[in-house]
Amino acid sequence: MKHIMAIMKEKFPERASWLNTSLKRLPDVKPIKDDETWLVKGLPPGDSKQWYLVRNIGGSLLCPCYYHAFGTMRKLRMCTHTGAVLLYSCLTTNNIQEILKRIEFSEKALNLVYIRRRIAKILSAKFRDSRSTANLLQSLSLVPDVIMQDESTWKVAGFNVRMIDGKYFCIGTDGIDKFPCQHVFAVMIYRREKRMLEEGGDARRSTID
Ligand SMILES: [Zn+2]
Ligand SMILES: [Zn+2]
Repeated sequence: MKHIMAIMKEKFPERASWLNTSLKRLPDVKPIKDDETWLVKGLPPGDSKQWYLVRNIGGSLLCPCYYHAFGTMRKLRMCTHTGAVLLYSCLTTNNIQEILKRIEFSEKALNLVYIRRRIAKILSAKFRDSRSTANLLQSLSLVPDVIMQDESTWKVAGFNVRMIDGKYFCIGTDGIDKFPCQHVFAVMIYRREKRMLEEGGDARRSTID
């Protein structure tokens, strides 16, 4: 571990404080599912939540803290929750190349986080009530879970979202979810993100705040 920290500090001298804070969080990482999900304890006053569920999505580490509010977005850098998880996996892999690759992937995924937040910001102008805003923020973490079935059907974390006559419906186990629920928002963001990526949009160039 000391060895890996030394290499990382040498490689990322400007990230010394990120590395130190991530290292301090190491004892607060609880693995949930092997190399897929971890809980990282929130530390006041900087953290507003008690726990953060960090997920490995296609080799990128993503944290819900990227979606907490529509406020200023951190620079395209990993947070210290994902940093702690990264160091946690160092303990088992001890493979510096793997770790560097994971940093690269995770930061590439931050570009997607930017795009999603930007889309959510646009949607928030249309759905202004507090319930919608809360659902919209919740939906951001669900976007990677959207699976398109066909042109008008999507699966989102056990819910079925369907487009019927231009209107979205979310069908769960208890019937139809009240519109607009987080699953419908996740589909809306997923579809816009797809369009933006197809058009070659780079969210870094535009402001989201
Ligand atoms: Zn975080
Ligand atoms: Zn729903």
